[in-house]
Amino acid sequence: MNKLIIGNLKMNIISKIERDNYFKSFRESIRGKKFQNTSIILCPPIIHLEYFLKGIKNKNVSFGVQNIYWENSGAYTGEISSNMVKYIGAEFVVVGHSERRKYFNETNSEVNKKITAIFKNKLTPVMCIGESLAEREAGKTKKVITEQINKGLTEVSKANISKLVIAYEPIWSIGTSKISTGEKIMSVRILIQKIFADKFGLAIGKMPKILYGGSVNYKNIKEVCLEAGMDGVLVGGESLYPASFMKIVDVLEEEN
Ligand code: PEP
Repeated sequence: MNKLIIGNLKMNIISKIERDNYFKSFRESIRGKKFQNTSIILCPPIIHLEYFLKGIKNKNVSFGVQNIYWENSGAYTGEISSNMVKYIGAEFVVVGHSERRKYFNETNSEVNKKITAIFKNKLTPVMCIGESLAEREAGKTKKVITEQINKGLTEVSKANISKLVIAYEPIWSIGTSKISTGEKIMSVRILIQKIFADKFGLAIGKMPKILYGGSVNYKNIKEVCLEAGMDGVLVGGESLYPASFMKIVDVLEEEN
């Protein structure tokens, strides 16, 4: 099965010059790559999305956004809808990222509304879940993740659940250079699959793809993705450097 490598560019690439430099470096880094086992999804800031769609043309690279509002249109100043995302040509939407939960108080019930809207518009949600360090140390990982999945998917149909992408991102690992071990990540993967089996009666072949996120780079990708049995990775910091980002792809292509 193809591994997904999602690049979350967050609120970076500030100017047109930075954007052009990113394209240049991305095109150079991707040149000659075969992509037999991997697919890339880039999630730039929304202001650059159309430029990315036009500027990076490669059948192995798709595009997504980092957030949406759940209504399709209307008087919601400052928001964008999944309907807009669909019409512009992107396919994925990151939902419930821990930074949104932390800085914008995004709740599980809002995550549910967003995922429902994303599916209605025939896009793929990338649902972020994960525990904080305090929660992990208090032995609450299972409780937190179970609640995020149960409450974040209350109105999502069983048929759509299989199309979902889950990004398991322990919060203490995001942007910190600290990673979980392959073994611990795998145990959370198994836990997530059990929640899906219990809640939705999903057979193993119908499970959503489950990715790992948190300080991923080409040096740790073997452990956090391959040894942990994950279906791919969500990459923040390293996705800003196309040459390093592409080395993650190289390892997955060689080892998979
Ligand atoms: C992220 O943005 O989801 C992320 C995992 O960031 P980083 O790779 O920088 O830890």
